[in-house]
Amino acid sequence: YFRALENAGIHLNRPQIQAVRHGKGPLLTLAGAGCGKTTVLAARAGYLMALRDVPASSILLVTFTSKAAAEMKLRIAGLPGVRPAAARAVQARTFHSFALAMLRHRGVQDEVFGETQAQHTVMKMMLRQLGLSEAFQPESLLSALSAWKAEGRSADELPETVREESDAKRAMLAYEAWKQERNKMDFDDILLRASVLLRDPDVLQPLQRRFSHIMVDEFQDTNALQYEMVQRLAARHRNLMVVGDDDQTIYTFNGARQESILEFDKVYKDAKVITLDINYRSDARILGLGSNIVAKNVHRRSKRLSAAGREGLPPQFATPSGPEEEAAHIVTHLLGQVEEGRLRYRDIAILHRTASGSRSIFEQLIMRDVPFIQYGAGAVFYDQSLIRPLMDHLRLSLNPRRMESIPSTLGPLYVSREAGMEWIMREEKLQAKKYPLIHLSRWDRLRDFQREQVKERIRLIRSLTTMKPTYAIQEMRRVFYDKYLESGDTGAWTHYKETMQESLEELETAAKRFDTVEAFVSFADELSERHRQMESLRREEDSDAVRLMTIHRAKGLEFPCVYWIGASEGILPHSSALHSELPEDRRAGAAPAAVVDNDAALEEERRLAYVAVTRAKELLYITSPASNHGKPAAVSRFLLEAYGVTPPEASKPETRRTSFGQPKGAPGHGSRPSSGTNASGTATRVSSRPGPGSGSARTASSVASTREEPRISVPVWKCTDDACKAWMR
Ligand code: ATP
Ligand code: MG
Repeated sequence: YFRALENAGIHLNRPQIQAVRHGKGPLLTLAGAGCGKTTVLAARAGYLMALRDVPASSILLVTFTSKAAAEMKLRIAGLPGVRPAAARAVQARTFHSFALAMLRHRGVQDEVFGETQAQHTVMKMMLRQLGLSEAFQPESLLSALSAWKAEGRSADELPETVREESDAKRAMLAYEAWKQERNKMDFDDILLRASVLLRDPDVLQPLQRRFSHIMVDEFQDTNALQYEMVQRLAARHRNLMVVGDDDQTIYTFNGARQESILEFDKVYKDAKVITLDINYRSDARILGLGSNIVAKNVHRRSKRLSAAGREGLPPQFATPSGPEEEAAHIVTHLLGQVEEGRLRYRDIAILHRTASGSRSIFEQLIMRDVPFIQYGAGAVFYDQSLIRPLMDHLRLSLNPRRMESIPSTLGPLYVSREAGMEWIMREEKLQAKKYPLIHLSRWDRLRDFQREQVKERIRLIRSLTTMKPTYAIQEMRRVFYDKYLESGDTGAWTHYKETMQESLEELETAAKRFDTVEAFVSFADELSERHRQMESLRREEDSDAVRLMTIHRAKGLEFPCVYWIGASEGILPHSSALHSELPEDRRAGAAPAAVVDNDAALEEERRLAYVAVTRAKELLYITSPASNHGKPAAVSRFLLEAYGVTPPEASKPETRRTSFGQPKGAPGHGSRPSSGTNASGTATRVSSRPGPGSGSARTASSVASTREEPRISVPVWKCTDDACKAWMR
């Protein structure tokens, strides 16, 4: 079998073969990124079928995403001795798809109710019915409920020791009941219901008999519920193989627990542990950077990886002035690489930390006609659920008759979108009227408070007409969101708030580039139009297109060329992981627990940086914008630490707060030389930049400086190692 594999181009190493050939009982395969964990899983499935006569349908292979499941099937189909029908019969699934299939098999026909917006609307309705609209934000309750259910508990079990808790619980129970009455289930329900079903021996036993071999990829990111399901399913045969890398636990905010993998061999005392330590993916210097980054974490099993690959081009580094320049740089550079025939578009991935962090690069790619596929978000920034209502207000300020914009503007209000839609359906004749919203405000189905809200909306929209786009955004933010953003929610709700805050800041940054609302809106509309035209591209999985995704999405994937954007303090590490370091918090006597949490958050950020770097096979380009949302940002500490540079100021928030001039004694972005060579060795021309200490002009937004300065044709890349060390000089 292994010879046949070799003939097919797969030369497994000794520990890999050992893992593939592993007989009965639990097996933990622990390995760093790119050491062939997923490869081994596929090979083992083939081996079990070909040599151990295990029927394909008895093999359950759990992957983290449905894309990974599809890829796993393809890999298995390509193995020697595997018939296409057998490859199809292997159960390669995500936890959710496995759970859903199980429910369907048991006759559960409930509709899947997945859209966040739909969940949000229902929760809002429940709060209103209970008279609790003012007390809670629907999103907060939904995410708290989701985290609770991910632990395998139902809403009935929620504690209610204080009044707030029992109010929150009432709303959550009402939401749950609403779904049940209508035979709907959300994603959490699918997992929860499946795991409850599995507690029934009549359901469990046939599944236990059927699945003689269970294998789980990316085990480091399973949550309690998923782990429990796996344990139950595997309890009979105990042929449970899990593979993972504790350094790649990046979903703790979704309930992932690093302990599952760290303690697997304590739970399964007879588990065999095989470690793989040869990385076949990345060139040595790329792997070196990744290993050095993650080595700074304390909570991990330490590993020493070696690279099978050559020492290729070291990771390259550039420091654009901000995200707009960063995006322009990267697109210019990647177009050059493709035009020179060194790469195809599909060889390239651009990875970013947060959802809104792709806004600039997304716009550059579209406006410069680069074919690309964005995973995850799948929508133009301005069309996303939080941003869309604000854009629609702007659109209505330009054209009050734009009926399509009305429902979304009712969103941030307490008039439901459905009411708006319903009204539009009945009142089609009103389209000819000058100000449809005024007619809506007179609609007899509205209650008094809703009527007031619509009138307020009209006043707001009218006031926006003459504003500069940035001010218009600020004004709407003040009206809709500030009260909520400044309220003191913590815990499960922090994440939601941060995303909201970030998106709004991003929108404001985007709007700064335009002098009029009209120019801004027409830019956003053109973007959506061009994006729509690229629809067919996105449907074809293997089209020749650049891949744009968050680092979270890139887990398990690999690309010949990776651009890691936003390697700056506040972006990665994300500002949320730096909060409790603020001196104010210290003064306020932040609880030690908060500091511990913060370390954990920082470690997770570091793991993200590790995941980003280790996606690259041959080429890795890292950019560290010197500003973000108009505020200065230093080079990510993860890079500096990795090259043994201790940034004296970088760990203190003061650095981030100083004006763009050099913080005293700290190196800065302006210190790079004014000319250099790019990756292909061609000399490039660079605009002059203020050097250390001059501190002038850099506070201008990057777009403004784009207009003033002569443009850089190609970014200047430096070896990341040298660049980081140069910081100390
Ligand atoms: P990650 O942690 O990122 O999920 P992984 O451990 O699952 O990584 P794989 O994706 O399985 O790693 O493998 C990484 C790359 O190394 C793939 O391109 C794979 O084909 C290749 N590879 C794995 N094992 C070998 C081997 N023994 N010889 C040559 N190439 C290998
Ligand atoms: Mg993998």
